[in-house]
Amino acid sequence: MDTRPDLSVVVPAYNEVDNLAPLFAELRTALEATGRTWELVLIDDGSTDGTAQAMQAEAARDPRVVALLLEKNAGQSAALAAGLSRARGEVVVTLDADLQNDPADLPRVLAALEHADVVSGIRTDRQDTWVRLVSSRIANTVRRNVLGDPVTDIGCSFKAYRREVLVGLPMFVGVHRFLPALCVFRGARFAEVKLSHRARRHGVSKYGVGNRLWRGIADLIGVQWLKTRLVKYRIRGDR
Ligand code: UDP
Ligand code: MG
Repeated sequence: MDTRPDLSVVVPAYNEVDNLAPLFAELRTALEATGRTWELVLIDDGSTDGTAQAMQAEAARDPRVVALLLEKNAGQSAALAAGLSRARGEVVVTLDADLQNDPADLPRVLAALEHADVVSGIRTDRQDTWVRLVSSRIANTVRRNVLGDPVTDIGCSFKAYRREVLVGLPMFVGVHRFLPALCVFRGARFAEVKLSHRARRHGVSKYGVGNRLWRGIADLIGVQWLKTRLVKYRIRGDR
């Protein structure tokens, strides 16, 4: 029997314990309202604050919740990759664990996916420091110009993918900033949707300018090469 759910929601978290109870409640409300079958794939990226225990408790309460615990902190890309490879849904949605994304926006993301293979959110009225706003704007502009990809706000983690566009994509450190672009390079239909954004109430951001800038530039050079070398094919027959 095929037990693939309609929807997988993948949420990486590193030291987000105080955000998890409201996150689970908001996600559950949003997911139930879709009327679809769903699973929630939570990834603990080696947290030291009780995030893993909170995830395990949630998974113990509901068989649709998976708590994937990484051995040690491996970074957002690794946590995302682990979650994506565990996700079984026909549609895979990603968002952050810190409540900056609003699960109530889920219907808008899913509606945009009706006519696309990949949907990426655009944070409106973004609740971050001006340094972050300016550096994001520059990074998005540079990346779009170098790669020619269509993503306005790659830092918005609220995204959705039809599962087939993710199959076989290369995963690397930093890939969370390039996934929609890689899908588009392989021919995926792309759409964007404006979403709300909230300030962090608990915990701290894991990023500053320093740990994004140089890595971002190095990754950009790698992805520029990858763009020309990604295997790209459509299956015409299979029997
Ligand atoms: N995150 C993670 N592993 C890390 C760093 C971050 O799983 O090594 C998660 C984090 O818990 C959050 C998401 O990735 O759910 C985005 O991180 P953050 O909110 O710090 O980024 P920002 O919103 O400040 O760009
Ligand atoms: Mg955040």
